Amino acid sequence: MTEWGGRYAQGLVATTLETYGTRCHLCLRGGATSADHIVPRSHGGPDSLDNLRPSHKLCNSRRGDRSIAWFRARYCPELVAEVVVADAVSFFGTTTAGHPAPSPSIFSRPKQIRNSEEPAVDLEFFALEAS
Ligand SMILES: [Zn+2]
Repeated sequence: MTEWGGRYAQGLVATTLETYGTRCHLCLRGGATSADHIVPRSHGGPDSLDNLRPSHKLCNSRRGDRSIAWFRARYCPELVAEVVVADAVSFFGTTTAGHPAPSPSIFSRPKQIRNSEEPAVDLEFFALEAS
């Protein structure tokens, strides 16, 4: 296999960025200047365009030859949470009971412990927020 580096790599990086844009496929933020192998080279992943995606150099080197899921769990936990919410919404949205899908925003609110000693002012705040 050709060594990854020099003009060979530069050419593939340029083609990858031209094809897919500059949104990093690992952290999903813009400004990618490098190309990451979806299936790492060390795992037999080819240098073909369909195995390459734009990435930041930092994200690329942090990931190494580990999985994309590992990278996100370690460096982008907020991304993992968003995916979980999206999955939950699509899951609950398809129930036959006719319940509407919950708004994703309810997942991001801090948990409120409700009990009989809850001050009235909190209830007012909650009612205002819900209207
Ligand atoms: Zn990135």
